[in-house]
Amino acid sequence: METCYFCRKGILEDRKVTVDFRWGDKLIVIEEVPAKVWNECGEKYYSAEVSREMDKIAVERKKEKVIEVPLIRLPATPSALA
Ligand SMILES: [Zn+2]
Repeated sequence: METCYFCRKGILEDRKVTVDFRWGDKLIVIEEVPAKVWNECGEKYYSAEVSREMDKIAVERKKEKVIEVPLIRLPATPSALA
């Protein structure tokens, strides 16, 4: 069986991972990225196709203006129907 190049004991698993890219103060997070992950050390690999898609997203996003929107959760209220 194939073992991890780095720790030599991992097993390769198919997982969906969250990947973040940074340029200076910009951060882009891509969720649900299919990856091969070594279960021991967490080292990740992406297929050529996935890498290409992520690059595309990253390049497009870089050109966009981003506004920050606070995400606020309404505090618990007694009843929705009151
Ligand atoms: Zn490893």
